Amino acid sequence: MNLSDQIALVTGGGTGIGKAIAKAMLAEGAKVIIVGRKEEVLKEAQTELGSGTEIMVCDVTQEEQVNKVYADIMTNHGRVDILINNAGMAARAKSYEMSYDMWKKVVDVNLNGAFLCARGAMKIMVNQKSGRIINIGSISGQMGRPENAPYTATKFAIEGLTRAFALDGRDHGIAVSVIHPGNAATNIWKGREEVSEREGLIPLEDLGKLAITMLTMSPNVNILGSVILPITQPYLGRG
Ligand code: NDP
Repeated sequence: MNLSDQIALVTGGGTGIGKAIAKAMLAEGAKVIIVGRKEEVLKEAQTELGSGTEIMVCDVTQEEQVNKVYADIMTNHGRVDILINNAGMAARAKSYEMSYDMWKKVVDVNLNGAFLCARGAMKIMVNQKSGRIINIGSISGQMGRPENAPYTATKFAIEGLTRAFALDGRDHGIAVSVIHPGNAATNIWKGREEVSEREGLIPLEDLGKLAITMLTMSPNVNILGSVILPITQPYLGRG
């Protein structure tokens, strides 16, 4: 197995894309810690994913909670090899009608939370002189949708976060990369099925396969970024 005994942390790993990547890493022999805010959801995922899965309740926007997750992982396992920086949320409204509270909530999870989790992982990885971080962006970080301002802005920022951490990690043997998914079959599409049915959906297993490819490159190689989308998704251009 390609990830034998590697210690992997997945934020938002109790559902959707995070859970799919957790499943793929478990199949490759990793030990996987999934975090999220809802213990019940995490427990259900742990039962589904099976042995090798651990759960920790954590709100990624809370610095002390994120720091505690890393402290606990270091106590229990002594290392962190992989971070899948995946927790995220969207909020729909016209940009000029978006409340400041909602704007801040999305920025807090998608950008500040991603920073806190990447920082915690990187501190450990610098000492190890190895590790991989995959941030989950979105094609909204390249081509936004209407009525999606904080999501679009934060997903553009994930590209910047990726490059900044990749630069600071490269002298320490750490690979930092980003996956920009198009529509993927998760709860994020609840209530908007007419859009996802029209545009197409990526099966979640494919995101798992992509993550494994990126995680199993030679130690000196990084796939810096990757766009994955349904063939039918309107994204490429006109005509
Ligand atoms: P889900 O809603 O299933 O996953 C979001 C996860 O993030 C949940 O497990 C949720 O757990 C967790 N989360 C949200 N807020 C917090 C928080 N403050 N602290 C800790 N965990 C949190 O949707 P997806 O799987 O689709 O989304 C995963 C990522 O993929 C997101 O970053 C999203 O932007 C991105 N993405 C999704 C696409 C899609 O089409 N599905 C396309 C492109 C990108 P809990 O509520 O228990 O905290």
